[in-house]
Amino acid sequence: MDLIDNQNQPPQEKSEPFPGTLYIVGTPIGNLGDLSQRAKSILKNVSLIACEDTRRSGQLMKVIGSKVPLLSYHKHNFKSRQSQLLKILESNNSLALISDAGLPGINDPGEELVKSARENHHEVICIPGPCAATTALVISGLPTERFCYEGFLPKKKGERTERLKTISEEQRTTIIYESPHQLLKLLKELSIYCGKERPIRISRELTKRYEESIGRTIEEAITHFCINKPKGEFTIVLGGKKETKHKKIISESEALLKLNRLINKGEKSNIAAKKISEETGFDRKWLYSKLHKKLDKKTFPHKANLDKNFE
Ligand code: SAM
Repeated sequence: MDLIDNQNQPPQEKSEPFPGTLYIVGTPIGNLGDLSQRAKSILKNVSLIACEDTRRSGQLMKVIGSKVPLLSYHKHNFKSRQSQLLKILESNNSLALISDAGLPGINDPGEELVKSARENHHEVICIPGPCAATTALVISGLPTERFCYEGFLPKKKGERTERLKTISEEQRTTIIYESPHQLLKLLKELSIYCGKERPIRISRELTKRYEESIGRTIEEAITHFCINKPKGEFTIVLGGKKETKHKKIISESEALLKLNRLINKGEKSNIAAKKISEETGFDRKWLYSKLHKKLDKKTFPHKANLDKNFE
């Protein structure tokens, strides 16, 4: 990869910002040193900067010496602002969009503006910068080859439960954002759905003075945060569900026999279903439902003692 162009000059630096172009500019997630030279140059030379909070971004502009006017663009006014911002581009001026921290469009306003700019045939260029999700991922020690990003989980109970179920089955590494006061609740939910042994790495205060990384399993993370009250900003990186080695090697009836044997030995039915699920790859809930519905008492003499607390 060529880092420097033929004129020994970072590409495009001389002529940017281009007229009629929307710049999506990444800003620091804690450490001001992470604002790139190119980002500074764009933020000092565009015609207008749209930002979530003009006071907060005003402080950043002061630090870098930008005198470019700021206009608020946030989740409460983005629809009404859209046409105003598009006019800037139509009149061949340049526009930058920044958020309070990190990359606009990643759990921050940006998606809608980029969509309209594209629909109206304006150029959109990203000046890449820090993003909590990818920053936490690459230091997690969990697989980075394939991953998915969930942002904040839904608050509504039904939607949240569905999302947690999907996450628990996901084989790729999953990245989740969470606020400090909801962190323990989320970890406990993840423990129920994914199992307390599931690998996890929680990044706290990335790029800041008190940056911390907490792991290794969900259970250990819960223990940590029961002792140390969560404070600051958190990004969670959850290991994917392991593909079961014995998957599909044995038949359904063999798996059910294994389940029966375990229960006969005195194992609780929900724990037995979990163990056999892990061993055989058959779904835990499916195995458990078979205890209730399909099998007669001959196959499952302990049917009467099924654990009522199975979820
Ligand atoms: N656009 C941002 C980005 O690119 O990362 C994300 C904005 S989202 C509204 C804010 C959430 O990102 C926080 O609640 C936290 O989960 C995560 N986050 C932001 N900064 C962080 C940091 N320094 N350390 C850990 N997580 C952070």
